[in-house]
Amino acid sequence: MAITTAELADAVDTFAGRIHAAKEELTTLDSAIGDADHGINMDRGMSAVREILRELRQGDPGALFTQTGMKLISTVGGASGPLYGTFFLRLGTSLGETPEVTPRRLAEALRAGLEGVKARGKAELGDKTMVDAMTPAVEAFEAGADGDLTTALAAAATAAAGGRDRVTPVVARKGRASYLGERSAGHQDPGATSTTILFESLRDALAVTG
Ligand code: ADP
Ligand code: MG
Repeated sequence: MAITTAELADAVDTFAGRIHAAKEELTTLDSAIGDADHGINMDRGMSAVREILRELRQGDPGALFTQTGMKLISTVGGASGPLYGTFFLRLGTSLGETPEVTPRRLAEALRAGLEGVKARGKAELGDKTMVDAMTPAVEAFEAGADGDLTTALAAAATAAAGGRDRVTPVVARKGRASYLGERSAGHQDPGATSTTILFESLRDALAVTG
């Protein structure tokens, strides 16, 4: 039932691999409503995280996620570095030395991560940012955390994609995309897209555990 640090490290590795695969797609999305670097930023950061994962998978989840967050902050430029960095740092602080992470503990940690992103970036639901994918994903996972882990992870990934798609038609109110005003409407948000990839990675890497 509980998730080990090694399994969480595998999930981070899955995320890194999928970000690498989606690098062009994320950068193309960011070229429409930003400065065409989201894929490059995220791939640089997650590639750097990958290099320290082998060591981190031996430790506790607090160290795994704290080091992941610090690596992202130090290697990723732009808005997304500090935001994803904060997300993982909060996960690390929340989980600490917990040897085996239950779905409920993971839900609490994800909630702490989301609140950290909101505090750092000051984005609200509907502003067309990563928060729009992260919020429904965390809520869906919280709702299912006392049941089957695989089902809860699937619900979270589906909710993230739903949130990402919901804000595609709207005008951005935070980040670079907001500089475009009305012209940002109709474009899929890069950060909401990478956050959806994060929850899909958690689903696919951790579901087998459940
Ligand atoms: P930058 O915008 O500095 O070039 P990135 O391109 O790496 O950084 O990331 C852009 C993404 O960051 C956006 O698509 C959006 O989802 C997210 N973002 C930007 N500003 C905020 C914010 N204040 N709060 C939450 N997410 C944000
Ligand atoms: Mg950018």
